[in-house]
Amino acid sequence: MFNRISVAILVALGSYACSAKGDSSLPDSAGAAASASTVPSDTPSAQSGTTGSGYILTAEDSARIPNELGRIPVVEYHLIGDKDATYERERGHFRRDLESIYRKGYRPVTISQLLDRKIDLPRGLSPVVFVFDDASPSQFSYIEKNGQLEIDPNSGIGIWLDFRKTHPDWQNRAVFCMLPNAEAGRSFFGNKGIEGQKTEWRFKKVQWLKEQGFELCNHTLWHANLSKYSDAVVQEQIARGEAAIDSAVPGYDVRTFALPLGVWPKNRALAKSGSWTEPKTGKVFRYNNDAILEVAGGPTESPYDPKFNPLSIKRIEAIGDLIENSLNRLDKNGTRYVSDGNPNTVAKPAGTADR
Ligand SMILES: [Zn+2]
Repeated sequence: MFNRISVAILVALGSYACSAKGDSSLPDSAGAAASASTVPSDTPSAQSGTTGSGYILTAEDSARIPNELGRIPVVEYHLIGDKDATYERERGHFRRDLESIYRKGYRPVTISQLLDRKIDLPRGLSPVVFVFDDASPSQFSYIEKNGQLEIDPNSGIGIWLDFRKTHPDWQNRAVFCMLPNAEAGRSFFGNKGIEGQKTEWRFKKVQWLKEQGFELCNHTLWHANLSKYSDAVVQEQIARGEAAIDSAVPGYDVRTFALPLGVWPKNRALAKSGSWTEPKTGKVFRYNNDAILEVAGGPTESPYDPKFNPLSIKRIEAIGDLIENSLNRLDKNGTRYVSDGNPNTVAKPAGTADR
């Protein structure tokens, strides 16, 4: 919310830059592979190999026909736990999701990358956005060992990091739509000793996510059903959610907002922008979201598709086989976004004009 204008200018300038910028976050092993590369990312190839930017492609990936007007899956997770349920993904199942989505030729990007049209993947790969809602300890927990904090390998982030060890071109790009003050430890990933998580670890977790390249997203103060409240309370919920992120990571530009329960406020415009005045200090907190996430709806439009509406981005919930079925349908119908590896052109295969 701060310095939005200067950020916008930087983004505009950056969109003409080489697409390798995001690759600085690839681990060393991927960098080593990149230096040995013989296949530049913008050169068509039907062979498997490692691209100049460190991405590892199978022959199947390289043969995929670019379509940058295709759809993009934005997948949505809640608890990562012991069992599969509507709002819970069993840990092994989450791990299998990562594996199968990777194998299908998808690599993670953020919502901000969609907004900025900076999907910097090589030809043949497809973007996927992972979104984690509610900031529960199950997504990100610490274990204290000999006075040191370690990321719990059984938490969502622990599983994600372990997956990266064997898939070095899977970058730390995901979106965390957080609550700073909700029940059951859904308060920046755990407080008050809930699931062993200390209140003083909260900001450290949010800062770590930001430093790693993950996108921070607002999900209101405590997950209010916004349709049931006055305009004033709606604005307080959204503004205080964003203010809490700013307390953890001062100056962070929160661009994405996820509607709790996918429910719009009566005054829909307030989901995008509004303000709240803190009674004690008289300080005014303003918010202005660039993206609003719905709770469901299937794969979302490409940002190059004129129908793309950043203020209503559809998602696919991690319930049962919804994600897998959705990805299979994209392939079957030929409606999947596939990168052409060239940031200056929008690849549109023949025959998709009247899709
Ligand atoms: Zn939620």
